[in-house]
Amino acid sequence: MKRSEVDRSKLSPMMQQYLDIKDKYNDTIIFYRLGDFYEMFFEDAVICSRELELALTGRNAGLDERVPMCGIPYHAYTGYLNKLIDRGYKVAICEQLTDPKETKGMVERDVVQVVTKGTRIDNLLNEKDNSYVGNIYDFEYCYGVSYTDITTGYFYALIIEHDSNKLIKEIVNRNILEVIVNSKIDREIISALRDNYHILVTIIDDIYELDDYDYLYKNIQDIRLVTTIKHLLQYIIETKKGNLSHLQEVEVININKYLTFDVHTKKNLELTETLRLREKTYSLLWLLDKTKTAPGSRYLKTNIENPLTDIEEINRRYDIIEKLLTEFILKEELQRELSEVYDLERLVGRISYGNLNARDLLQLKYSLKVLPNIKRILEELNYGKTIETLDEVYNLLEKAINEDAPITVKEGGLIKDGYNEELDEIKRIRSGSKDFILQIETDERKRTGIKNLKVGFNKVFGYYIEISKGNIPLVKDEFCYERKQTLANCERFITPLLKEKENIILGAEEKIINLEYKLFMDIREYVKGYIGKIQKISRIIAEVDMMASLATVSEENNYVRPTITLERNIIIKDGRHPVVEKVNKSDYVPNDIIMGKGVDILLITGPNMAGKSTFMRQLAIIVIMAQIGSFVPAKSCSIPIFDKIFTRIGASDDLVSGESTFMVEMKEANYAIQEATPNSLILFDELGRGTATYDGMSLAQAILEYIHDTIKAKTLFSTHYHELTSLALDLKNLRNVHVSAVEENGQITFLHKVKQGAVDKSYGIHVASLAKLPPSLIKRATEILSVYENKGNKKETFVQTSLFLQPEEKEEEPNYIEEELKKIDPLSITPLDALNILYDLKQKIKDKE
Ligand code: ADP
Ligand code: MG
Repeated sequence: MKRSEVDRSKLSPMMQQYLDIKDKYNDTIIFYRLGDFYEMFFEDAVICSRELELALTGRNAGLDERVPMCGIPYHAYTGYLNKLIDRGYKVAICEQLTDPKETKGMVERDVVQVVTKGTRIDNLLNEKDNSYVGNIYDFEYCYGVSYTDITTGYFYALIIEHDSNKLIKEIVNRNILEVIVNSKIDREIISALRDNYHILVTIIDDIYELDDYDYLYKNIQDIRLVTTIKHLLQYIIETKKGNLSHLQEVEVININKYLTFDVHTKKNLELTETLRLREKTYSLLWLLDKTKTAPGSRYLKTNIENPLTDIEEINRRYDIIEKLLTEFILKEELQRELSEVYDLERLVGRISYGNLNARDLLQLKYSLKVLPNIKRILEELNYGKTIETLDEVYNLLEKAINEDAPITVKEGGLIKDGYNEELDEIKRIRSGSKDFILQIETDERKRTGIKNLKVGFNKVFGYYIEISKGNIPLVKDEFCYERKQTLANCERFITPLLKEKENIILGAEEKIINLEYKLFMDIREYVKGYIGKIQKISRIIAEVDMMASLATVSEENNYVRPTITLERNIIIKDGRHPVVEKVNKSDYVPNDIIMGKGVDILLITGPNMAGKSTFMRQLAIIVIMAQIGSFVPAKSCSIPIFDKIFTRIGASDDLVSGESTFMVEMKEANYAIQEATPNSLILFDELGRGTATYDGMSLAQAILEYIHDTIKAKTLFSTHYHELTSLALDLKNLRNVHVSAVEENGQITFLHKVKQGAVDKSYGIHVASLAKLPPSLIKRATEILSVYENKGNKKETFVQTSLFLQPEEKEEEPNYIEEELKKIDPLSITPLDALNILYDLKQKIKDKE
């Protein structure tokens, strides 16, 4: 049965209420609160029963047929909710707004928040990741993009030129999980985001009209950015409903302020996760992350994804690391203190949403406790930035919040004794009465002479006097005992006095709970006034934490402070790939990378497995580390600031978008060629490998020439086309280098050492033999190779003159005639036969032409 097909007038009032709400949330699953359950109806029920493996039942709602329904217990809903969100659904939580016990007629209900991929705030979020919800506002001549992490309140905005590829790259690059778009946008962009990158896309044109959040963009002049921000605001206010006072002033991103690279490069270089397993372990982030706080870890990740281009800031960071390394005792103390600091950014988010509990406030307190120490250490380090310590907040929390407060805020136990007089007084009354009741036991034993008389308490009957079966005859009327409950071996009574005291206790209990709740809310409101300050502290803590982490890693692995030069020269002595070095138990072979004046391109040749790809990645990683402000794995390093990095490395087939390797390869090459500047770094690893030999080689050469003559970017280009090495004769800014290997008794040892000049022998077969392919197969391959090698010599000159002829076919023809001629024994044929054969051959050649 479908929602749209029912006769609404026949429906029960509750189902009508449901449908009125559901009408406003068409594309969203409604969790509709009914007592202790969230129920889903109609199509929502069908979806949920399928996705969550729930039994599909039905509910009588006034119609002939039952309405499809399924449900989940409200106290265990988060697991179900997360499953739906992960699968790309939106869920609206619809709560009971009035207490069913106190309501006559229908309980009021409404949606209190909508949970979506980009706007979830639950504790299941990975604390080391940011999760962003963003928007695209198509202005038809450019795009406005803004995005925010609503758990921390960080908010960014930027303008992107009207180029859909660039737009998609930016969205994907920035880890935006969900976007709102206005309806002007090209549908192809929507499907690319949805289908290729699993981004949740919603089309909404509304823009936030009020000024409640104008502090977010008060310093932004560009009206396009303001419109974009308001477009996103409208959506998050709609979905989150609650207070968003933790949103932070929007940071306008100027793309030029950062070293940029696309998603492929991020993947290829394994910056935040590895290519094959897509895990953090063995990524650059894994190596560099010795942070102590979640904000620090997230900040490091953001920096790895967005290294700087500002020389001053980069040098400032080197100075800090240097300082931390000399003041290592202070550094260790600093890190000890940092490890006491909780996730302030997300705590602040919870303060703002109002779902903060006493334990959160305790976490805030423990974090604040170490701030004075951190402040002192920063001063001793001449850090250049300082933090407020918020002593007043700390003192309040220390005085007020009970150390072992429960998670819930409506059961009391939140507030410490001595914080509030009234509360203490009620508590005194309560415990006074409790003492009194204990006293009653002794008194009554005496009065009645019943030795085993007991006073007890249970939730249903309250306080009672319990007398065992055997002693019942001793109970006299004058005691004024009123029988309440009869059990197998005893009876329970109450007395007026007991009842009176009980009322006092229960009354006090209720007052305590209410008063504690109120006090707690006041404290929460008070802390809310500090949101901005706590965020400021948190930003500095995150940065300090990252710097301490970089210092630790530099120290452990013997990194060196880079020198940033204003010339376009790269001089790296004994550079290493930091992750390969860390993972390879055997010794890593350091390599120089020298690209001084007049050298823009290194053409790298060498056998498979020699270390070409590692050598190339090593340069990119060193550049990225240097521009984060980290020391680098080398003996010495002098490099310029790069603006962009482009890579085409290995077979990173874009399985998701289903394009062929070669197409991906050419697209990435094209992207680099279109976007690179003389200040960029290009890494092309075996470009052209994905197509036929001569195609690939021709393209590779043409691309090299183009980079050399037109782009002039620093480029590392590895190739297995040895023919290309002769390009060094023509392209004056190109140098050949090779990675050597030694061969002994048919075995090959890789030295991983990069040397000047070209190498011209392929060791592929030897590598195959190392891989233990069958010996007969290896022998056959060796034979075939020798045939090709003999042919190859002829091709050399050919390759250099013109690449576009088809040499294989040219060689076939003489072969055919050769074959025919070989068949003939001139001494055993007649002159006429000879003439005929000659005629035939000529005819054959003519046919071919
Ligand atoms: P290629 O691209 O030439 O086929 P790779 O760069 O993929 O070679 O390296 C092959 C293997 O050699 C890798 O497993 C890597 O761990 C190791 N390797 C590469 N360079 C070095 C080096 N400088 N020192 C030690 N091991 C290295
Ligand atoms: Mg390789």
